[in-house]
Amino acid sequence: MQLVFATNNLNKLKEVQAIVPPHIKLLSLKDIACNEDIPETQSTIKGNAIQKAEYLKTHYGYDCFADDTGLEVHALNGEPGVYSARYAGPQRNAEDNTKKLLAELQPKSNRSAQFKTVIALHINGKLHTFTGLCKGEITTEKHGEGGFGYDPVFKAEGYDKTFAEISLTEKNKIGHRGKAVAQLVEFLNI
Ligand code: IMP
Repeated sequence: MQLVFATNNLNKLKEVQAIVPPHIKLLSLKDIACNEDIPETQSTIKGNAIQKAEYLKTHYGYDCFADDTGLEVHALNGEPGVYSARYAGPQRNAEDNTKKLLAELQPKSNRSAQFKTVIALHINGKLHTFTGLCKGEITTEKHGEGGFGYDPVFKAEGYDKTFAEISLTEKNKIGHRGKAVAQLVEFLNI
């Protein structure tokens, strides 16, 4: 089976490729010569995932799935949430985003947060969604060189290392995207 994963993010592709079984061949946007920015203009994470999957199906005709992820921080009323990529501005820079997050949280005592991933799958003319959550907390400074995005400042519940300090296998086991992908794979295996 061939499925397009609607992302240009090589880190995400690597994470997801490591979990899907070999009989599911993942194609990237590059593989189908989709070079434009896919619109993400909805006000929810789920809305954006659906928008991306529907855009790809409509414009390219492939069965596909798209993911959208946000970091929801309790003391910031769920922000940055759906605005996680653009938290510090339209440049979508991870360094700037984490810096802003640490500054906003500096006066707060509650540092609990969760990552949320929604995957929207468009297959055989139908749309399905899968949600993965990972609870944890925001550290007071960055730790680790691995991962991407907010990984250096996020520690999953029960862990004393950030997502940037643990292996990809471990992140996939406990992480938001891994949990959503596990549901996707279970659905596709039926
Ligand atoms: P999107 O799902 O690509 O729109 O990601 C939204 C924002 O969350 C971007 O700033 C990403 O860098 C960040 N992000 C997405 N997934 C992860 C993750 O697994 N770890 C850390 N940051 C992430």
